[in-house]
Amino acid sequence: MSEEKNPTMVRKRLLLLVTPSTYRAEAFCAAAEKLDVEVVRGLDLPPELAAQWGVPLAVSFADPDEATQAIVAYAKDHPLDAIIAVDDSATLVAAQVGAALGLAHNPPEAAEAARDKGIMRRLMDEAGVPCPVFRHFSLADDPDKIAQYVEYPCVVKPLRLSGSRGVIRADDPAEFTQAFNRLKRILLGDGYQPKSTNILVEDFIPGVEVALEGLLTNGVMRTLTIFDKPDPLDGPFFEETIYTTPSRLPEATQRAISETAAAAASSIGLRDGPVHAELRVNDRGPWMLEIAGRSIGGLCSTILEFGAGMSLEELILRNALRMETPSADLATQAAGVMMIPIPKRGMLHAVSGVKEAQATPHVEGVEISVKPHTEIVPLPEGASYLGFIFAHTETPAEAEATLRAAHAHLRFDIRPVLPILR
Ligand code: ADP
Ligand code: CA
Repeated sequence: MSEEKNPTMVRKRLLLLVTPSTYRAEAFCAAAEKLDVEVVRGLDLPPELAAQWGVPLAVSFADPDEATQAIVAYAKDHPLDAIIAVDDSATLVAAQVGAALGLAHNPPEAAEAARDKGIMRRLMDEAGVPCPVFRHFSLADDPDKIAQYVEYPCVVKPLRLSGSRGVIRADDPAEFTQAFNRLKRILLGDGYQPKSTNILVEDFIPGVEVALEGLLTNGVMRTLTIFDKPDPLDGPFFEETIYTTPSRLPEATQRAISETAAAAASSIGLRDGPVHAELRVNDRGPWMLEIAGRSIGGLCSTILEFGAGMSLEELILRNALRMETPSADLATQAAGVMMIPIPKRGMLHAVSGVKEAQATPHVEGVEISVKPHTEIVPLPEGASYLGFIFAHTETPAEAEATLRAAHAHLRFDIRPVLPILR
């Protein structure tokens, strides 16, 4: 109902914490519009730019305490009914503001644990949640020495990067030393100092990988959907490609996945709002890789539709505002999304075959997100993908086949980067 029709009803106000480059704000804004909720965007921008751009609420997510103060001050004149962190970088600010204003929120320590793989592993392990054996090392350590006593195969990984950046599998000591040094270069390039930077070395967990979207309400988790990742992720680098839903795993396995993800959320203290969990499954059951206090990244949520035409973002918004939810069952028969991998390093000159890819039966869209004449860098140094392909089909197997067929039409003209342009 709109305000005009019912002048006594006060329109609810949502604060959406977003980075200027996010893909995902639009879906939340569309959901808010549908529910007649006012959206205020809290943008992660330096103050100089905020003034220049005339942004009403700009805060730095890198300084959570200051950002919290600024938002709490803003809320005095503009009362907030809900706060949603769209990306990982804002989850701590959202938690602190939620605590200060008495809104549904995660404890700040939980938001912190969900962003730091070291804290996350320790808490999960203490709670008995199945996860890989892990060890911490300093970037200042000698990799040749460590290589002698870690187990193989193993995975080296940074504590606070994302998108599989810097995550590398090693099968023997020689590979370990190479992987360690490669991760070290990435972290030094990002400005980390060797002495004060730790990394994780974990046992490699074989098996298939899944992602789970869940929604927490007062500490109780509902599974919204489980995605299969049909491309094998065996390393040495772990590039995301195809996600299909619903999962093709047996019911009992899916239940075990949900239970493990719920236990993982509770072990790190997540209580409210969306979760995106990643797990591996083998004959010993599900194993937690990680869990984040936000919904799925990129444009992947576009393919999900729940009962009564609700998007994932609408469910998240209704939950944050404690509005009734008609049905959270997945309405789509089957769907899939492919994050288009970066085939090699270089300058992306042109992309062809998009029309043909788009014309593949059951393909809903092909979105190339990288602009021509941009340098593209694959994993483990790079961080992104070239775009997305979306498909809706009758079965998840068809979704997978559709995405592969569409992808086969795409041609990327990638040329060497002239050293002078580096
Ligand atoms: P990020 O936050 O960068 O996504 P993850 O810890 O999720 O880092 O690791 C990225 C990917 O690397 C995972 O999706 C998985 O495929 C692989 N991976 C990470 N840790 C392990 C592990 N211990 N065993 C097997 N595969 C792993
Ligand atoms: Ca991950």
